[in-house]
Amino acid sequence: MDFLFIDARDPIFGLIILVLSVVVVVIFSYFWGVFSRKSKDASIDKFLAKFSQDDSKIIESLSSLDSPELAVIATGFAKLGDWQKAANFYEKAIKKAGHDEKMLLLGDLGLAYIKTGLLKNAKDCLEELLGAKPRDEKALFHLLFVYEKLKDKAGIKSCLDALFALGCCDDDLRAYIGASELLSAPLSTGDKITALKTLPQTALVKRYICELKSKNYEKPSADELPPLQMCADLFDLDTLSEFWSEFFTDEQSGCENLKFSIKLAKLAKENNLGAKLEFKYTCTACKNELPLFFARCPKCLKIASVKLDATLRQDESFSQQKGDM
Ligand SMILES: [Zn+2]
Repeated sequence: MDFLFIDARDPIFGLIILVLSVVVVVIFSYFWGVFSRKSKDASIDKFLAKFSQDDSKIIESLSSLDSPELAVIATGFAKLGDWQKAANFYEKAIKKAGHDEKMLLLGDLGLAYIKTGLLKNAKDCLEELLGAKPRDEKALFHLLFVYEKLKDKAGIKSCLDALFALGCCDDDLRAYIGASELLSAPLSTGDKITALKTLPQTALVKRYICELKSKNYEKPSADELPPLQMCADLFDLDTLSEFWSEFFTDEQSGCENLKFSIKLAKLAKENNLGAKLEFKYTCTACKNELPLFFARCPKCLKIASVKLDATLRQDESFSQQKGDM
């Protein structure tokens, strides 16, 4: 072991060995920490997953835990997507919590109520939180969602005013709220289009205008068109090529996959091959994928976060037609 001492033989060699030993210990400690944390998280998830299947008696037995421990369990259930049990444990945690901890948990409970469809409970919960912390941006966005669902116009306005005062009310949000109200109003398609044009002309509002015009068998004008990745599903291949001829020559469009799929579909059509475009809609915020267009992500509740993409698929109706001939 003498070689480990700096003064034994070559002092530089001893120093290098010492430094290497320290580095090995630090690296080992780091990976052990990561591993043990992961295995702890995994065991909590497994534990909760088992509870998800079992009888509620066992869940009731956890009620004796302290507020922070109950909150950890509630968050675990929320991560598993079991919002009913998450809400149940947040309620238990709040009953035992002090004032500051309660304020932190009310936001989580409000979201759990939204996810379970208990909108009145969510409203009470978020309003209580905002009474104490009126600048809580996340709670304001969640309460705005609740007011929208409850069709509470005064509530929507108060939330928008508060978000505007915080500098968080952008064109996307104002356009989304305005358009939602207009689209559900008892107006003719033409009047809805006229009213939509008074809103900030965001990609979402332009998409709505295109949707309404296609119902009326009208073509949108060039300045009414949103970016292609917001509306490619609304038009046939010829119209897409006509409207977006510039897009197909622009190498910087940022939608290479979409552009490639549309080009392939057009080639397939020209050569009478049975193929069609299949669209999917992804939330750029949480990566949630849906088969239908959404203005607000149903998972993370973000507005204007949708991105459209397409893949080429075999058109089965085309093969059947060919077989019939
Ligand atoms: Zn999302």
